[in-house]
This record gives sequence, C-alpha cells and structure tokens, in this order.
Amino acid sequence: MAEPSSPPDGIVIVGSGLGGYTLAREVRRRDDAVPITLITADGGESYSKPMLSAAFAQGKSPADLVQKTAALIASDLSIRVMTRHQVEAIHRDRQRLALRRPDGTGTEIGYGRLVLAIGADPRPYRVEGSAAAGLFTVNDLDDYIVWREALAPASRVLLIGAGLIGCEFANDLLTGGHGVTLVDPAPWPLGRLLPEELGTAMSTALGGAGATLHLGRSVTAFAPGLATLDDGSQIRFDRALTAIGLVPRTAMAAAAGLAVARGIVVDRLLRSSDPAIFALGDCVETASGPLPYIAPLLAEAKALAATLTGTETPLVLPALPIVVKTPALPTTVCPPPPGAEGHWRVEGEGGDLKALFVAPDGGPLGFALCGKRAGEARALAALMPPLLP
Ligand SMILES: Cc1cc2nc3c(=O)[nH]c(=O)nc-3n(C[C@H](O)[C@H](O)[C@H](O)COP(=O)(O)OP(=O)(O)OC[C@H]3O[C@@H](n4cnc5c(N)ncnc54)[C@H](O)[C@@H]3O)c2cc1C
Repeated sequence: MAEPSSPPDGIVIVGSGLGGYTLAREVRRRDDAVPITLITADGGESYSKPMLSAAFAQGKSPADLVQKTAALIASDLSIRVMTRHQVEAIHRDRQRLALRRPDGTGTEIGYGRLVLAIGADPRPYRVEGSAAAGLFTVNDLDDYIVWREALAPASRVLLIGAGLIGCEFANDLLTGGHGVTLVDPAPWPLGRLLPEELGTAMSTALGGAGATLHLGRSVTAFAPGLATLDDGSQIRFDRALTAIGLVPRTAMAAAAGLAVARGIVVDRLLRSSDPAIFALGDCVETASGPLPYIAPLLAEAKALAATLTGTETPLVLPALPIVVKTPALPTTVCPPPPGAEGHWRVEGEGGDLKALFVAPDGGPLGFALCGKRAGEARALAALMPPLLP
C-alpha cells in the first residue's frame, strides 16, 4: 500500500538527531498548522548525544539516556514521525523521496520543502587486520547500546584518537572502572584544539586518572586482542574503540545533484543549491565550514525555522566555546578561525592554564582554558570575533 504523501506545502525533515528534532520543535513553536513529517533511519528516540561520552560519570545506562520516544514527540508536536525508514534517494524533479520501509519494501513520499538533518559517519580506521579486529565506533544511541553491551567489568579498552570525543570517552571509561590505553599520532591530546602546554596538562590529567597514553604513535596492525604500534610496541586489549573524526553524510545529496564539498553546501539561509531543499547540523558545510557541535546546530535550527515559516533569517553565529567533558581536567576551547594567522600566548601554572590565540596585530582570535581557569570562558567569548557575523 502506498504511504499517504506529505501535502505540497508540507515540510519533510530527514533525521531525528538534535538537528531534526530541534528544527521540528522550533517550526511548531512558530506555526501550529504547517504539516511536518520527520523520517528517520533509527528508532527516533530523543536523547542528548553529548551524554554518550559522559554516561558513566552521570551513572546512566543507555536506556536512561532516552528522553522521549518517537511516539511521544509525534503527539507533543503534532507531527508525523516515521521511524526505521531509510531515505534512499531524492527525486528533485518530482519533489519526492524514495524510502526503504522497516520490512525492506520501498515506497515514496512527496515534499514541499525538504530539510536534511542526516548527520555524519564516523571515519573508519583501516590498517592491516582492522576489518577482523571488531573495532567499535560510537556516534549515536544505537552504537552506544552495542558498545555498552560489549564491555565486561574492567575491560581493557584500546582507544584510537585523542581528539575531543576520544578524550571524553577515555575519561568516562576510566570513571566506569575500565582500563584505557589511548593512542594518537599527535604529540598531545586535542592536538588540533589546544596549544602544547594545555595538551600536556590534558595528558598528565588523563594519565593521573589511570590512562596509558601512546602519543605520536599510530596502530599499524591488529591481530585478535592485540594491536601493534608504529614503534613496534604491542598493546593487549579486550575491546577497541576508534574516535578519529566524522565524515558528513553527503552521498545522497550528491547523487541528487546538490552541491557538496566537505558537507552539503548551504548558504546563510541553510538553503542548498536547490531552493526547496535545506540542511543543518553535522551534515552541512556552512560559510564557516563544517561545525559539528550543538551550539551552531541550535542556532541553525532557530534561523531555519524562521525562514521556513515566512521570515527569511540568515544564520548569525557568535564565537561559540566548546566544553570538553573531561572531569580529570575541565577544559573549554574556542578555536581561532581555520587558517588564522597568529600565535598562542599561555599563562598559568600546573593544570590551571589560560591560552589566548592572538593575531599579529595583538587582537584575540581564540582561546583555550583548563583547570580552574575554565570558568573564564564566558567573559572571554564576548571578546572573540563572531564565527558568522
Ligand atoms: C560522543 C559524542 C559527544 C559529543 N559531545 C559534544 C559536546 O559536548 N558538545 C557539542 O557541542 N557537541 C558534541 N558532540 C557533537 C554533537 O552531538 C553533534 O554535533 C550533534 O548531535 C549532531 O546532530 P545532527 O542532528 O546533525 O546529527 P545526528 O544526531 O547524527 O542525527 C542524524 C539523523 O539522521 C538520520 N539519518 C541519516 N541518514 C538517513 C537516511 N538516509 N534516511 C533517514 N534517516 C537518516 C539518523 O538516523 C539520525 O537520526 C558530540 C558527539 C558525540 C558523538
């Protein structure tokens, strides 16, 4: 049987992450009549993704992270939510989407305006033996359920990637009573966000909390339960988790002929190269590049909801500090614009450090704070140039 189509003026949102649901909520706040259909490949539960790397610290199981079921959200917002439906193609000429239903059969649905909030995929780690090594990634609630089930008490976890997500998982796994060995080719953790002094403080803090760090090193081969590093040393592990970055999901948009670069390219109205199709969240590339964080996504959802309900509202972003959820060393970072010229100026002692990234003319462009200095973030953020003026 054919699915009932969305009315021609209806908004169809693909994705039930924070991007998709925040947009649905914001549109409904402004317009209680416009038909909204939200289609998602997953179960449609709302949850806070940042909690995935802080669940042990909060004493939460995967089930505790679910805030609302899809059915409850659908009735709260008076929207239609189609869970476990995969959108397979966008037929722009007919303004229709090809879907795969949960039973594997295909169907189509029409859209008036389409919003892609389809997120990003974890970057795969491929070396000799990696395909058979059972490497885990965690980028959504379904992944996290599988990951937590795979952990036995006091598992020895090999964590590949000491970026934001890797450091957070390292700290949280230690809190959960697991052993952690962290490997990253950069010379200090959060290598792309922190200057050396603060990165070294993070190393010391994670080490002090019980992690073993192999920095400036890469895993070059896996055998069952055994990883070999590029210096020949070997690490035994029970479970391995990789956190080496995300790749925005662009394939479907590209196949439909939309402009894509590092993400689905959108203008200040979050509009793709097709005026009937918009995008937000981890899948997009804005004028400031990909911004895979909550604060930009919330601003995008607000601006796009206004545009979709009749008030064209360009996206404006102030400087947006990112809080790194590492209780071993509270850290907040507001990176300078990509490619900005300048240097870090660091002050403070021990783990209580403040780093200011200053342009050649002395103007502040970014900052990083850790330990007791992390509390200065709000005041400093006000001095930083906006991400999108
Ligand atoms: C462990 C972790 C911790 C984090 N911590 C922080 C933090 O502390 N602060 C911060 O600012 N950011 C943090 N982030 C990043 C932040 O959570 C993300 O930027 C944000 O949640 C992305 O939301 P999204 O809606 O764009 O994508 P997602 O949440 O990935 O949602 C994508 C949705 O699209 C659906 N979908 C994809 N393709 C299809 C398809 N073809 N058909 C149908 N449905 C589809 C998926 O099923 C999913 O529902 C963290 C990320 C992780 C992984």
